[in-house]
Amino acid sequence: MNIILFGPPAAGKGTQAKLLVERHGMVQLSTGDMLRAEIASGSDLGKKVKDILAAGLLVSDEIVIDLITANLPRAEAAGGAIFDGFPRTLAQAEALDKLLGSRGSLIDRVVRLKVDEKALVERIEKRFHDQGRADDNPETYKERLAVYNAQTAPLLPYYAAQGKLREVDGMGPVEDIAARIESALA
Ligand code: ADP
Repeated sequence: MNIILFGPPAAGKGTQAKLLVERHGMVQLSTGDMLRAEIASGSDLGKKVKDILAAGLLVSDEIVIDLITANLPRAEAAGGAIFDGFPRTLAQAEALDKLLGSRGSLIDRVVRLKVDEKALVERIEKRFHDQGRADDNPETYKERLAVYNAQTAPLLPYYAAQGKLREVDGMGPVEDIAARIESALA
């Protein structure tokens, strides 16, 4: 089974992806984590994307599609992928459908975590305070949210048209949200 966890930055995609990994033994494919690992390692790719992440903007479709293509085999070997933070543009969504199709596979479900904007801002302030991730500062977060609304939210009709979209209330305790996600996958 291949799942996309969908939602704005700080919606809880990473947290829920890790719980899905524990429950189902699937592999989390987070393009944000992959890009941060590249930056931390000081690779050429890391140097290229560092300022883009710091500004809260999207890196090129080609870069993230290459990262996903390289990591997909290990997800397939584990029985499926949880895509977290990918796709973020229509071009990425189309490329993912093509990539999976060429491997005799597909996206089974797209789970949208719905969290109101006030709660998102509160969560991000807490994460900035606790973890100090530079792009969680209030100004950059505003930019990330704007990018989500402009470039990523338009994917919702794409997946709705495929009959794959499930809406899940992303507010409340982590384990309640996890239970709602399980129902959405059933
Ligand atoms: P969050 O979900 O909290 O916004 P991520 O860790 O998913 O954060 O992403 C952090 C940053 O990495 C994004 O703001 C963007 O710069 C870059 N990024 C991650 N995934 C993608 C993607 N699929 N396409 C383009 N840029 C991406």
